[in-house]
Amino acid sequence: MPLLPLFAACALAQADPLPEISFDLARAQAQNREASIAPENDPARQARVRKALAHAFARYPAGFLAQNVRTVYVVRAMADDGAGYGGLTGEDGTSVLITDGDDDGVDGDWIETVFHHETAHVLMEDFHREFSRRAWRDATDPGFRYAHPKGDGGMAAILQGEDDATFTPTLNAQGPLNPYGASCFDEDWATYAQNVVDPSPEFRDLVRRYDYVARRAALVEDFYERIVPGWEPSPFRSTL
Ligand SMILES: [Zn+2]
Repeated sequence: MPLLPLFAACALAQADPLPEISFDLARAQAQNREASIAPENDPARQARVRKALAHAFARYPAGFLAQNVRTVYVVRAMADDGAGYGGLTGEDGTSVLITDGDDDGVDGDWIETVFHHETAHVLMEDFHREFSRRAWRDATDPGFRYAHPKGDGGMAAILQGEDDATFTPTLNAQGPLNPYGASCFDEDWATYAQNVVDPSPEFRDLVRRYDYVARRAALVEDFYERIVPGWEPSPFRSTL
């Protein structure tokens, strides 16, 4: 009977829960009543979204994500007051809403980046006691000030057109990665987290060149190592 227990073990391993992927407009809308949301109803695009998200989910140990992000709502586009945005956290605190590209096609890299970014917001909410805001301030130029330190800085930045996500040398020398990250702590944090979780060669280069970037990246990595059992260290560590 040696095959039976082995088979049962495989079946159990596959049963590790993952976040649910939903394309249901009404359920997505219930997570943000102000946003005007265009649904993703195209089966071919939905299949590509599922593939990209499966890759993003695999970055986290089995079972961890579903405890914190139960549902990923995927939509074609979202906007508020005419300003579009790529992702949001859900009002229930256990879901994220993400867009999947543009009318030209699904962008798998974009989906993964937005998923890691919004998940970072959820994890900071859930585990904020595990993160030292003081250490973050210490890894920031003393002269730096967030553009929108109070309230919903990310939304304010989008509405004022300050949502540029391009790495910006003058900011990198002070700590933040880009104008969007310079809007408020929450976006500063999430723009770092998305890069530490899935670092590009450009990000690794910034880690090498800017002391504040290296220190902040290490703080983010330490946070994930603390809160995620079995976390696989980010490859950016090899550049330190
Ligand atoms: Zn954000």
